[in-house]
Amino acid sequence: MALPEITQLELGTFRFPDPELQHRRGVVMGYVIRHRGGIFLFDTGLGFGNKEIEEAYHPDPRVIGEVLEEAGFSLDDVTAVANCHLHADHAGQNSAFPDRSIYVQAAEWELAHTTDHTILEWIDFPNARYVPLAGDHEPFDGFRIVATPGHTKGHQSLVVETADGPVILAGQAVYTVEEWAGTPDELEGRSSAPDQGAYDGSLDRLRELGPERVFFGHDRRSWVRLQS
Ligand SMILES: [Zn+2]
Ligand SMILES: [Zn+2]
Repeated sequence: MALPEITQLELGTFRFPDPELQHRRGVVMGYVIRHRGGIFLFDTGLGFGNKEIEEAYHPDPRVIGEVLEEAGFSLDDVTAVANCHLHADHAGQNSAFPDRSIYVQAAEWELAHTTDHTILEWIDFPNARYVPLAGDHEPFDGFRIVATPGHTKGHQSLVVETADGPVILAGQAVYTVEEWAGTPDELEGRSSAPDQGAYDGSLDRLRELGPERVFFGHDRRSWVRLQS
């Protein structure tokens, strides 16, 4: 099998609190990247049993260990984790990965621990081994974590070099295929981003990488470059 290999995981669904969006159901996607440097998991999905989250989002989370198993992996196979950001829908099952490096931007860590940003009991757990990053980081050759602030101050995306060119796992730096393509519909992330300037800058930066393919944290579909 040719490496790196990227496997898409559906981690759960939720209802949008915005009444205008309640005819659509949100989805949370995660990714396994099998790389010669190890097996990397990008996002752990929604957690379980928080009343506030349940009332606001009516989530239907899936157990990360079961999702991984369906995709042919075990929890123990995962050598390292990264969260695109620490909101409860992306980092909710981090505790399934004790003693594993979990890469997160220091700015995001700070936000989570000083403001009402996430469900902290899903983030802080015994034997948690967070690796705080100050911007970009390349854990293995051809596998980069890039800072993409905008949706949150410490948002990050992954860039994986493949034989066909770079593949971007955007997380929530951009919401959908349409938003990436510059023709956003009602489901888009820019208008609710606390820092729209940073959001635009991050999106420009990702587009400038000239990716062959882009995967998203809240869209089952991926964007693929048209062959010319
Ligand atoms: Zn978020
Ligand atoms: Zn999200």
